[in-house]
Amino acid sequence: MAVAAPVRVRLAPSPTGTLHIGTARTAVFNWLFARRQGGQFLLRIEDTDRERSKPEFTADILDGLAWLGLDWDGDPVIQSERVEAHRHAIAQLLASGHAYRCFATEEELTAMREDQAARNLPPRYDNRHRDLSPEQEQAFIAEGRQATVRFRIDDAATIAWTDLVRGEMRWAGSDLGGDMVIARRAPADRIGDPLYNLVVVVDDAAMAISHVIRGEDHIANTAKQLLLYEALGKPAPLFAHTPLILNQEGRKLSKRDGVTSVADFRRMGYVAEALTNYMTLLGWSPPEGMGERFSLQEAAAVFDFERVNRAGARFDWDKLDWLNGQVLHGLPAASLRQRLLPLWQERGWAGEGPGADPAWQDDLCTLLGPSLTRLGDGVEHATPFFSRPSIDEGARQQLDQAGAREVLAALLERLEDGPLDGDSAQALLSAAAGAAGVKKGVVMKSLRAALLGSLQGPDLITTWLLLHRCAEDRPRLQAALA
Ligand code: GLU
Repeated sequence: MAVAAPVRVRLAPSPTGTLHIGTARTAVFNWLFARRQGGQFLLRIEDTDRERSKPEFTADILDGLAWLGLDWDGDPVIQSERVEAHRHAIAQLLASGHAYRCFATEEELTAMREDQAARNLPPRYDNRHRDLSPEQEQAFIAEGRQATVRFRIDDAATIAWTDLVRGEMRWAGSDLGGDMVIARRAPADRIGDPLYNLVVVVDDAAMAISHVIRGEDHIANTAKQLLLYEALGKPAPLFAHTPLILNQEGRKLSKRDGVTSVADFRRMGYVAEALTNYMTLLGWSPPEGMGERFSLQEAAAVFDFERVNRAGARFDWDKLDWLNGQVLHGLPAASLRQRLLPLWQERGWAGEGPGADPAWQDDLCTLLGPSLTRLGDGVEHATPFFSRPSIDEGARQQLDQAGAREVLAALLERLEDGPLDGDSAQALLSAAAGAAGVKKGVVMKSLRAALLGSLQGPDLITTWLLLHRCAEDRPRLQAALA
């Protein structure tokens, strides 16, 4: 799809909570499109809800995006710093007659909605103050009433646009709930706090946004916003509404589903490469031959809206786990070490002795890498390398088998403290097996039981060599014999 330059897209998160997976997925699609088109990916922090917006949420959102590798262009725009521009636009709409002051009180509006509900009508503002005379306005002001500012929505209007994901879209003005509040209640000689649809339009226009890419829960807002662009005499951007993320039951993923913030996924041991890969697949189908495992850069090279699905995307933990495993298995040892080290250090491991040696840690990562699904597995599976294990039932039974102790004793006798490599380790095992008169399988299983306290674990010889470098093999063999 050829797109007229310059492409400028934006993510406009509200800092009223931590970075939600849905917002992060919207960020992924914006980023992919911007990078594909050689355009700009901008950020706007929509902090106009002063009560619910918190600086720590802004920090969480920026941290999360940076961690995911979704770098943005320039400094984030802070919406609350633009309130004069928003008020100016409202004043313009009042002056042009596209907007007016509405003096309806909260009680009147509640009574109106209750009446509509009683008659089974959808809730809407009945436009009661649309055409007040100056005398009527003065009478309300004299009563001490405050006013909101409402934007006229013609019930007979049809709002149409070509959505880049959903194709031809059409909304009837009569389905937009009546004239829309664009500024909160304030004394009638002032303009109250500007509201969402108005500020988004003013800011997107000021930022010269070419494409608004956001979740499909904003479709009705888009219809309202298109009317505002027209009234303000600004060119409207193109729109792409992406499908929602659904939970296992097929409903919109929400806080009730537990894990929804990017920080939660991170804490659970998912890595950024897997999460962005997975979020891309949530709603976008890669071209044939690409497979499902790809980097953000690889996806950016081919991303377009034609491959974005219209249907909601069901969250699939198995797929995410699989992708995470794929990423972890493919990481170079040093890179895996950098991610595991903080987790090991939290346990008080890897701070001193041979286990603190980066080369040893790299070799441990090479050994464990292929068995990991989440980073936490790299803690669990590393446990017997950093602390002496207890002996489980299976290992105990193995050690009680005929010949097991004899062969371990023969091994101990031959074990020297100097360096050990794969060949000499194999030779030692053969020699011990011969001396004790047992098969090699017995010595292998018994050694595993003694070193790891379990019959399960990674490659035995590599395990042994790693423990030998820490002088941890001899004491474990001795303990097993005791
Ligand atoms: N602050 C809005 C939100 O977080 C932005 C929506 C938009 O992209 O316009 O839902």
